[in-house]
Amino acid sequence: MTRDQWWVVTDLDGTLMDHSYCWEAAASAISSLQNKGIPIIPCTSKTAEEVRLFRKQAGLTDPFIVENGGAIHGQSEDGEEWSVSLGPSHRQLRPELDALSAALGEPLLALEDLSASQGKALLGLEGDALLCAQRRQWSVPFVPVPLSVRSQLRALAEQRGLALVEGNRMSHLLGKTVSKGAALQQLRLRLNSPDAKVLGLGDSPNDLPLLEAADIAVVVPGPSGPHPAFKDHLASGRYQLAPLSHASGWAEAVKQLF
Ligand SMILES: [Mg+2]
Repeated sequence: MTRDQWWVVTDLDGTLMDHSYCWEAAASAISSLQNKGIPIIPCTSKTAEEVRLFRKQAGLTDPFIVENGGAIHGQSEDGEEWSVSLGPSHRQLRPELDALSAALGEPLLALEDLSASQGKALLGLEGDALLCAQRRQWSVPFVPVPLSVRSQLRALAEQRGLALVEGNRMSHLLGKTVSKGAALQQLRLRLNSPDAKVLGLGDSPNDLPLLEAADIAVVVPGPSGPHPAFKDHLASGRYQLAPLSHASGWAEAVKQLF
């Protein structure tokens, strides 16, 4: 990668992909970026296993950010994959979820504990795809609690030196300093590209740190509009709204800029 170039740093679920994990409407925009030498850097809640599969399908070889910023990955010139972890491991985090559940007095159901039928109903994933999503290394996703207790849970997590973020289907328990934005900063340093310009694209509150770190921030809406967490940023013009939902909106936003 050269200095001072543009990077497209994108969330996957709910942003580039719709709720059936389809992204084909963005295939020609992805090819066009590749022809221009602009890297497409997934920045996602997904595990490295899941992102490797997507990169293979999309023909990408660019770096990637997994588990909401829990680790950055890339490929050296000889094709070997490297990775750097940026926070506590799943092994350290998992007992914290159980402690939070006890403190809150509410059950917290971790993604890794979903049965096959729960995984299909809640995530639309089956078989190996569900198993790939369940093998976490740097985060503990769990089924969101009702809004009435969410701020209490967040406060309890903060007391324990942890962070909670909301994705489009799951809540995620992370180390306190872990975020998509912090991971992007680490990737800039690692690739010796402190001045790379970033087009950031996201759909959910867990994307806020990525969008804040981006030079141009685009919110990709779902069919019923953008997430309400972005209302003020969109009204002020700090963030732009993609004109269509999911992959179609992603493709339009990318085409308008490049
Ligand atoms: Mg998302």
